[in-house]
Amino acid sequence: MRVEGVRGMRDILPDETPLWQRLEEEIRELFSLYGYREIRVPIVERAELFSRGVGEETEVVEKQMYVFPDRKGLMLALRPEATASVVRAYVEHGLYAKGDLAKFYYLGPMFRYEKPQLGRQRQFHQYGVEAIGSPDPALDAEVMDLAWNLMERLKLRSEGLFLRVNSIGCRGDRPAYREALRGYLTAHEGELCPECRRRLETNPLRILDCKEEGCRALAREAPRSVDSLCPECRAHFDAVQAHLRELGLAHELDPTLVRGLDYYTRTVFELCSRDLGAQDALLGGGRYDGLVELLGGPPTPAVGFAGGMERLAIVVSAQGGGAPSSEPELDVYLVPIGDEARQEGMKLLAALRRRGIAADTDYMGRSLRKAMGVAGRSARRAAILGGDELSRREIKLKDLASGEERTIPLAQFRTDPIPFLR
Ligand SMILES: [Zn+2]
Ligand SMILES: [Zn+2]
Repeated sequence: MRVEGVRGMRDILPDETPLWQRLEEEIRELFSLYGYREIRVPIVERAELFSRGVGEETEVVEKQMYVFPDRKGLMLALRPEATASVVRAYVEHGLYAKGDLAKFYYLGPMFRYEKPQLGRQRQFHQYGVEAIGSPDPALDAEVMDLAWNLMERLKLRSEGLFLRVNSIGCRGDRPAYREALRGYLTAHEGELCPECRRRLETNPLRILDCKEEGCRALAREAPRSVDSLCPECRAHFDAVQAHLRELGLAHELDPTLVRGLDYYTRTVFELCSRDLGAQDALLGGGRYDGLVELLGGPPTPAVGFAGGMERLAIVVSAQGGGAPSSEPELDVYLVPIGDEARQEGMKLLAALRRRGIAADTDYMGRSLRKAMGVAGRSARRAAILGGDELSRREIKLKDLASGEERTIPLAQFRTDPIPFLR
């Protein structure tokens, strides 16, 4: 009986993994250049981490989270995002005790029960950074520069890149803004979708990122959070934008940008590309100055971003960066002829691989002609070990591009193969 995979949980097959590996390598290398160190947090957490951290009223927690009891009835969740987990780990391990800025990056699968579509799966993959411990607006700019730099490194057209930025203020600014927003939206209640009519009571900020056209039109005319900032938040946002100008990062104010998670404070941003059409965001993030305290740590400001690997893979391959290399993957394909040669061949393969040579052989009982065909598709050279060669303790190396052949002593090839493979 055939068992199928689960809807929204996609296999990434070997033809695709070279692109993923390349993206992951670029991310690791670049994030290290900015002083971020990798953290690996579990996929499973207590469900309350996200209902408290991300917010009970958010779409992510309310509708999309995979929640289930374990065998003792403890409510667990597959992580829908990583920031809450990273902050939990930061608090749990007392990393704040060093009194220093902690810079983390992560890569890994996240889970949200959404309608699957191109680039959006129920198991999806995110990369991201979290810089925990400083309110410095220069750090907000550094995080955005890092995001921008990643796209440059992946050869996205930098003239097409721009940042959408907004400030949603501190928790002190929130009540006044929420009331201003509620007042305006209540006057237009009839134009809101049913969902947003409910949000009017519980969390009117969420209405700003509703995707319904009627709600979007209202959002564009709504009171702006930047007009309700306290002097400190105003100065902070001005400083962030001044740093962005200094760094030459194109940015525009988007007053409707609030991001779908409750933990954000002050700066929120998305890095977008004009080359992508309507869904133009490559990644998003912002400050979450209250989250460490909310999850049981001391008051600690923080900023970060997260981006989707699926989206990055699509964008990079659309720009021609994902084409599989035409280079053969193996250095040598061994073609032994006869049982004795095959035994000798297994020893030779083991020796080559121990010297870092990518080598393989046939396990399908192919004829010489067919084995040479496989060699031609997968390797730069064939190493042919027939009865004659074996009796002379020699091996024949054939360059599969030029057709050039040479016969060399087997012992020499085994102990020092590199010169023969140049
Ligand atoms: Zn404020
Ligand atoms: Zn709505």
